Amino acid sequence: MTRIDPSPGRSTLGAPVAVWIGLGSNLQEPERQVSAAIGELATLPESRLLAASRLYRTAPVGPPGQPDYINAAARLETRLAPQALLAELHRIELAHGRRRDGTRWGPRILDLDILVYGDARIDEPGLTIPHQEMARRAFVLVPLADVAPPELAIPGLGILAELLERCERDGVEPLGDSDPAE
Ligand code: ADP
Ligand code: MG
Repeated sequence: MTRIDPSPGRSTLGAPVAVWIGLGSNLQEPERQVSAAIGELATLPESRLLAASRLYRTAPVGPPGQPDYINAAARLETRLAPQALLAELHRIELAHGRRRDGTRWGPRILDLDILVYGDARIDEPGLTIPHQEMARRAFVLVPLADVAPPELAIPGLGILAELLERCERDGVEPLGDSDPAE
């Protein structure tokens, strides 16, 4: 297992951990929100952005009548402990003007989720890793496959390639002019 938070309150770890982040937006020029957020992930402390997926246009899941989403995924390595990384992601979401009104899966300016954090399984108040529901969601798995090997083992959920095979990919389309970046 990944060593996590060896002493209470500690926000960094000794060795870098491989992390995958999911990005999504369906308000206020979502392409711009997601592209800018990828740039901001590149500036996180104690971290390195290693790859970013293409941008995908995806049909909304959740309350009806929402605009389409733009989704992407990014691969980082980080020495930030999981809760410290989550705090950084919340800071970026807030800087983009996100306000949480309590509606689950409602429209949002920017959503940044920790999908996978090394081989860790975490279930703490406000933080569950791997992110719940990712195993069934093409809008998460398809971008993730741009920046993760097919054999990636997602702790407790399965192998990425097998999860992808089982999910319904309709409604997840890459934008024409974007390429995965390494
Ligand atoms: P969702 O991403 O499920 O659509 P939100 O972005 O509104 O919902 O997040 C709700 C809460 O989920 C956040 O305040 C955060 O503390 C929590 N959360 C739990 N696990 C994670 C995770 N792996 N990555 C990001 N947020 C998480
Ligand atoms: Mg979220």
